[in-house]
Amino acid sequence: MAAACIFCKIVKGDIPSFKLFESEKVFAFLDINPLSRGHALVIPKFHGAKLTDIPDDQLSEILPVVKKLVKATGAENYNVLQNNGRIAHQEVDHVHFHMIPKPNAEEGLSIGWPQQ
Ligand code: IMP
Repeated sequence: MAAACIFCKIVKGDIPSFKLFESEKVFAFLDINPLSRGHALVIPKFHGAKLTDIPDDQLSEILPVVKKLVKATGAENYNVLQNNGRIAHQEVDHVHFHMIPKPNAEEGLSIGWPQQ
């Protein structure tokens, strides 16, 4: 945990989030500024700024959660993105995987998370 990190604060519950998943090592929540309906962020609870800062045992549990969330949206088209460093468009210095569902053209914006 890093005291000043907004994603660490989200994990602790000090900043509210729309939580989608939580396990011992992984936390997932909706992006506050979504690029599409259902845009989610999946993060290790371990604080590290970049992918290379995260121990393998923390990282290995992330992609299965990304996959689970993709399936939950029903999206057939989606992006999984992970930015490292300012030049690579990283804004929040706590490793995160974006899961961005793309609505099927015929379905408009109907793909999204069920409301809790
Ligand atoms: P980056 O550019 O890959 O670092 O993406 C950071 C993402 O975090 C952006 O998509 C932001 O919208 C998102 N974000 C920033 N603050 C919050 C928050 O408090 N809750 C949820 N998402 C956030």
